[in-house]
Amino acid sequence: MSQPELLHVKGLRTYFYLDSKKVAKAVDGVDFTIKPGETVALVGESGSGKSITSLSIMKLVSKPGKIKEGSILFGDKDLLNMSEKQMARIRGNDIAMIFQEPMTALNPVFTIGEQIVETIVKHKKIHKKLAYEKAIELLKIVGFPRAEETMKEYPHQLSGGMRQRAMIAIAISCDPKLLIADEPTTALDVTIQAQILDLLNEMKRKFNMAILLITHDLGVVAEYADQVFVMYGGQIVEKTSVEELFENPKHPYTTGLLESLPDIDKDVTRLGAIKGSVPPSYSFPEGCRFYDRCPHAMDTCKEQNPELIEHETDHFVRCYLYD
Ligand code: SF4
Repeated sequence: MSQPELLHVKGLRTYFYLDSKKVAKAVDGVDFTIKPGETVALVGESGSGKSITSLSIMKLVSKPGKIKEGSILFGDKDLLNMSEKQMARIRGNDIAMIFQEPMTALNPVFTIGEQIVETIVKHKKIHKKLAYEKAIELLKIVGFPRAEETMKEYPHQLSGGMRQRAMIAIAISCDPKLLIADEPTTALDVTIQAQILDLLNEMKRKFNMAILLITHDLGVVAEYADQVFVMYGGQIVEKTSVEELFENPKHPYTTGLLESLPDIDKDVTRLGAIKGSVPPSYSFPEGCRFYDRCPHAMDTCKEQNPELIEHETDHFVRCYLYD
């Protein structure tokens, strides 16, 4: 029997109303599911809509952005029908989020300990003394050997990697079922990146937590994800398992991304690059949104945007090449 879904995003559209005539369709009809304990990667260049998708799930899209339609089912609850008060309970308790730059989420005037304790007390409603002990335990789990001392330190006293570990401790402090990690290692050195991603993987196994990993890095995807959704122009253009994506990529955008990955087994002097850039989300072309950059573009591609279709079992592609 297949596992029940933890999160089901259906027909999500998040638009930004820039002025009376200009509407940026940042997320434009996105569907996907995440199962408990699964790592799903949302991949694409900046401007593809992946971060706005994650902010939509948290209902943290700010004006002039607006979730225009769709549903976001978390278990049997539709997050889009929830009041701000109900949503505040979901955030942090059931769904937590970490960002690229932890300094934006950590408060510089409070110690790491105060920030973890406050989160635990707020969401778990337990006594401060118990929360303090749990905070020390969490800091040890995420790799702070001198956890008691770290409790008294301020964010600026920690390195970038250590700040990200502290953010992970805060995020997992309330045992979330889903952790959204938006480019969690982009601002870090390569060796620290691997440590943070290994830590996330370990937390996922330990707490059976699902992870929605937002990244532009296919190397990270290959190593850590179970499923991959490739986004382009506010839509998913390819959706499949990580093994299938790397062995049998179909969409020309995916193959372009893969060709731009360094491969130590190949003797190449120049990496491939996709020409041009993502079109602005307020002026997508009528037809396929990848048309201007696609090496296989045909006349039909210009007329109508292709649908996302399952061309092989569990392998969905939005491209006329496979019709
Ligand atoms: Fe390229 Fe056409 Fe496929 Fe779009 S639909 S990706 S333009 S081949």
